[in-house]
Amino acid sequence: MNGRVRIGSRRGLRGVSARLAAGVLAVLVAAGACSAVRQSAAPAPLLILVSFDGFRWDFMDRVPTPALDRLAAAGVRAERLIPAFPTKTFPNHYTVVTGLYTEHHGIVANNIVDPALEDRFGLRNRSAVQDPRWWHGEPIWRTAQRQGRVAAPFFWPGSEAPNDGQHAAHWRPYDGSVSHEERVDQVLALLDLPPTERPAFATVYFSDVDDAAHRFGPDARAQVDAAVQRVDAALGRLITGLEERGLWDQAHLLVTSDHGMIGTPPDQVIVLDDYVDLEIAKVIDWAPVLAVWPKPEDVEEVYQSLSGAHPHLTVYRKAEIPDGWHYRDSPRIAPIVGLLDGGWRVTSRAYLELRGGRLSLGDHGYHHELEEMGALFVASGPGLRRGETVPPFSNVHLYELMCHLLDLEPAPNDGSLEAVSHLLRDGG
Ligand code: AMP
Ligand code: ZN
Ligand code: ZN
Repeated sequence: MNGRVRIGSRRGLRGVSARLAAGVLAVLVAAGACSAVRQSAAPAPLLILVSFDGFRWDFMDRVPTPALDRLAAAGVRAERLIPAFPTKTFPNHYTVVTGLYTEHHGIVANNIVDPALEDRFGLRNRSAVQDPRWWHGEPIWRTAQRQGRVAAPFFWPGSEAPNDGQHAAHWRPYDGSVSHEERVDQVLALLDLPPTERPAFATVYFSDVDDAAHRFGPDARAQVDAAVQRVDAALGRLITGLEERGLWDQAHLLVTSDHGMIGTPPDQVIVLDDYVDLEIAKVIDWAPVLAVWPKPEDVEEVYQSLSGAHPHLTVYRKAEIPDGWHYRDSPRIAPIVGLLDGGWRVTSRAYLELRGGRLSLGDHGYHHELEEMGALFVASGPGLRRGETVPPFSNVHLYELMCHLLDLEPAPNDGSLEAVSHLLRDGG
């Protein structure tokens, strides 16, 4: 894990001013000045984290998105958010809430094998998703609850597994059939609880854009733009709900996505059987990151068969994976990792036949610095700048940012507050 650069003095000062404020409060109460006390007491911090799965950074400029536009005008927008590697759903959602690279939080793919656990993880395997052995690090809902706050991480990857033996106060098993409106309303309902029971941190998740962009391809304007407008409408409902409760000016609302999307034309498919015996290679995860796990004695031969086999597939021995991917330091990373050029797919002949030769028309998972993999970040709240667009930054820093906005002491992580301090109203 990297050494972190802390903006310690600001947090320290805050602690001092909070203690001073508590002192003033006691004095005023003693003097019978209760109404003055209520007016001056700072509201408890509230942060709502929204994920629009698969929402590429530029999708909000293709079609009217009044809610996102309003949020951007009231806060900050990143030109794009750089995901962690690999640019898949579970790895990135968990990086956002832990501040850890995937090699450190353990969710190195949507499909994982752990040699020590002798077990497999898959995002549709309910018991694996709820098994804490897969999820390392401390998600922000646990950080919040350890420090006396209530958290409600609805539908966020990782929220179904206890962390340090405990679930968040409010969570529910993932159910893709729950309507957008209900996803928003369940969070708003919790905001109606008395202040001591009200969550300080909550999440809302939507897969609509990811679903459409996989199925039709990101350039299918009619279908993808319609999904973009549906999730924007859900955000509008959330903003209205905050306004009705007098919380819009107080709340931090962070809207993000886990990765972007690129078109995958049907003629850009590599059939792996053409280059290697799949019985020996043992592929445990496919497009666009190949995780190849042969027996130790077969690793070099399989590597040699795949290396240079196709101009759009680059394979690495685990020890040679580039540093910038932060993708070596885990026993769950395969001995051979292959990465495709953007827009290419790799599959087996059997799978291609099963699908009648048709694969989805859009995908993600490619190199995290590819522009098309860039994700969305728009956020507003009292601690953030207003009406500014900032250059691209990495999502590994969001945990530090959220802890700062919630006035929480972060757990050790790979991010740094300094990397995002230019988003802060008081600290650029
Ligand atoms: P991906 O294969 O990376 O495109 O994953 C996107 C899919 O992950 C979505 O369409 C959802 O069906 C699924 N998903 C998202 N969040 C969860 C969750 N918390 N539990 C189970 N599945 C999820
Ligand atoms: Zn996703
Ligand atoms: Zn997806």
